[in-house]
This record gives sequence, C-alpha cells and structure tokens, in this order.
Amino acid sequence: MDDVLLMLPGPTTVHPRVLNAMAQAVVNHRSAKYGEILTETSELMADAFQTKNQAYLLTGSGTAAMEAAISNVLNPGEKVLNVVGGKFGERFMKIAQAHGIDTQELAVEWGTAVTPEAVKEALDADEDIKAITVVHNETSTGVAAPIKEVGKVMKDYDALYIVDTVSSLGGDEVKVDDFGIDVCVTGSQKCLAAPPGMAAITLSDDAWDKVEKVTPNGFYLDMKAYKKSGDKTPPETPYTPSVSLTYAMNEALKMVKEEGLDNRVARHHKAAKASVDAVKALGLELFADEDVSSATVTAVKMPEGITDADFRGTTRDKYGVELAGGQDHLKGNIFRIGHMGNISYKELLQTFGAIGMTLKELGVIDEAGAGVASIADSYSA
Ligand SMILES: *Cc1c(COP(=O)(O)O)cnc(C)c1O
Repeated sequence: MDDVLLMLPGPTTVHPRVLNAMAQAVVNHRSAKYGEILTETSELMADAFQTKNQAYLLTGSGTAAMEAAISNVLNPGEKVLNVVGGKFGERFMKIAQAHGIDTQELAVEWGTAVTPEAVKEALDADEDIKAITVVHNETSTGVAAPIKEVGKVMKDYDALYIVDTVSSLGGDEVKVDDFGIDVCVTGSQKCLAAPPGMAAITLSDDAWDKVEKVTPNGFYLDMKAYKKSGDKTPPETPYTPSVSLTYAMNEALKMVKEEGLDNRVARHHKAAKASVDAVKALGLELFADEDVSSATVTAVKMPEGITDADFRGTTRDKYGVELAGGQDHLKGNIFRIGHMGNISYKELLQTFGAIGMTLKELGVIDEAGAGVASIADSYSA
C-alpha cells in the first residue's frame, strides 16, 4: 500500500472497513439483494443530507451530480444566477452554459465569501432568475459560504436554491431541509471518505415540480429515470450502477452514522481551527479570510522565494505527505491542506511536521517544530 498520507481536498484516505466492503461479491444490480443495499444506502445518504426527501446515488464523480442539479431543473434559455468565488462556482456556470442556460455571474473575490445581502440584491434586480447556484465549500480557495443565511433570503423568492456540498457534507453543517435547499449534491471521495466515483443528489418537492416541466436535455442524468427506477420494488437504478462503490458508500455512511454527524462536523471544525493556528505558528499566511475559512480545507499562501514543485515535492517525496496545489491563477501561489474525512491530531502532527521540516530545509524558517507544537497544544487539554 502507498504510505503517502493524503491531505488533499479529495480523494481522502479510505478506511479499511470501507475498502473491505468493496471486496464483497458483485451481485446482479436487478436483484432483491442489490435493492436492499441500495435502499439502505439511499436512506443513510438522505440522513446525511438531513432531508426527508429521497436521496439518489449516481455513478459518476461529484461533477456528474452538479450537472444533474442544473440540467434537470432549468430549460435552455432560462436564467440562472451563479455565485462564483472559485473554480467550483465557475464549474456550475460552465455546466449551465453547456446546456444553453442563460447564466448571470455573481462574482465574489476569490478568498472571500458571498453575502446574503448580495444574493438578495441580485435577485431583486432581475425577476427572471429561475435558480441560483452556490458552492458551500469552495475547495479551490478554502472558503465556506453562509448557505444557512442565504437559505433564509431564498425563502422570499421562487427561484430554486441549488447547493454544491461536495467538499462539506459530513464535514461541515449541511441541513438540506432546514436551510431550504432545493437541490443538493455531494460526492463520495471528500468528507464521506469513500473512494472516488459516486455522487449523490436530493431534490425538494418544488424542485421535482420543476423537473416535470423541463424538457429533458440530456439522457444519462435524467432524474425522472432515476425516480422511476428508484420507486420500483425492489428499487433499482436506470443503468448499471457501480455495485462495488455502493458497498463502499454503504459502509462509509454507516461510519458517519456511528460517529454521529454533529460529532463529525465538530471534529472537522476542530481540525480546521488547529490547522489555521499551526499555519500562523509557522509564520505563514492564510489565503482565505479567516472568518469564512473552511472547515475541511485550509488554503495557505506559498512563502516567498520557494516554488510549488520544491515545496510540495519535498513534503510528498521526502516526508510522505501529499498536499494540494493552487488551481488556475492560484497555481504556485497557494497550497491547500485537505483535513477532511478520517483525520485527527495524528495526521495533522505528521502534516505539520512535514511542512515544518520542508520549510526549514528550503531556508524559509529556522525552527521546524512550531506547527507541530501548535497542533499538540490544540489537542491537549
Ligand atoms: C471535488 C469537488 C467537486 C467535484 O469534483 P469531481 O472531481 O467531479 O468529484 C465539486 N465541487 C466541489 C466544491 C468539490 O470540492
């Protein structure tokens, strides 16, 4: 097994329990046995979304669920408001454009979060807006958007509220029904700590009403087909699902339930706070505004005078810790620490040990241990 510690915003380290679950026999996906596992896994998924509505598993990565979220509730030519403060906000907009939907960008400076007031203003300015997209946890910048507060604003408008919780569900607070989210999507390989390749989506009654009115402009991700198959006894998926990944999701979601969602979210917040403190202890600077800093990924400015290749290459090849780089114009300017999934002080001690030793070796700092000392302080009473 590769002993490099993945401290990425996905994929994250998969627990042996989940890996072993995937070793079960691949059964007929049109059988009572698969129906049972699908039913249980979908229910566990709905619990994780904190919704009374049905959750659907899609075989595909998180982006597949993002595409389903857009293409099923908007007709070509209809207008969507896309909140864009990073790579994934931008992806929602690009998906909408690919479907011929009229996009309007609500641009947010990368590293900062959208405000409920800005959303309200944009909606008031244009009554043709049929839906808005918000990325809860903008993984490219390490910023968490106030989806609960935006949800309060959305209650006064007919526009559907579409939220990407791919890198937050199971790591930060996501209450789909309470927050008034109409379409919510997530992925397997981030905070849920399953292998990559599965995604999930849930739709509110209002969203389903709209689905009925939309002319299908796609085939594989047509949610009407998933609903029809899911309503059968035993439930099925319209096309062959990844049976093995269904086992993995089942086990990963059981682990989420055993830990308790609230405990899991608290564990992620603790890791985020500890990481932010350790970054500062090393004399490094956060990229994101600290008050909106993510619970699952910390973005850090690359220290002057060293390259991304030297820095991340050393943490990985010499010290066994894989960190993420920046995307697009942030490439080389930031690095990102993913602290999502099955992580606690052990992984953070190793991570900040590797970062400290690397920075010392590259001549950025004289004392390698300040980050480790900070993590130790955060976790000892
Ligand atoms: C990872 C991620 C996605 C989906 O990416 P895939 O590579 O398709 O799984 C979408 N949104 C956010 C915020 C993400 O972090």
